[in-house]
Amino acid sequence: MMAEHPRDVRGGCLCGGVRFTVTMPTLFCGHCHCSMCRRNHGAAYVTWIAAPRSQVVVDAGADLLTRYESSEHGSRSFCSRCGSSLFCESSRHPDVVDVPLANMDGPIDRLPESHIYFDDRASWTPIADALPRLGGASGLEPVK
Ligand SMILES: [Zn+2]
Ligand SMILES: [Zn+2]
Repeated sequence: MMAEHPRDVRGGCLCGGVRFTVTMPTLFCGHCHCSMCRRNHGAAYVTWIAAPRSQVVVDAGADLLTRYESSEHGSRSFCSRCGSSLFCESSRHPDVVDVPLANMDGPIDRLPESHIYFDDRASWTPIADALPRLGGASGLEPVK
């Protein structure tokens, strides 16, 4: 067992109205550079955690969550009081919920492991780390 990591890590929105718990282990953590994430979060890229749906529980403020259908297969939920962008869900992987790492209260069980949709990235933010750079149609193919 990886005892050095907490089993449950809590998180929430800016106003604190929406609170949730992600139970470790997570499936993935990475930086998404797609234009939808960029606009939705107002940031150069979004660092996502992916976790099994059964391991993401909304503890408070479910009534504050508003779901925006951002594509044919995906939705993004935000706090209707403070506007924080929270969960991203897709019918392509219905058993997984994506949660922004920035909205967690503390460290999770892993560090970001790759850049995805890297070829869609903002030109104004240099990326200098050595993490794999993935892109293409799926966002997950190796790019130069
Ligand atoms: Zn809020
Ligand atoms: Zn994205």
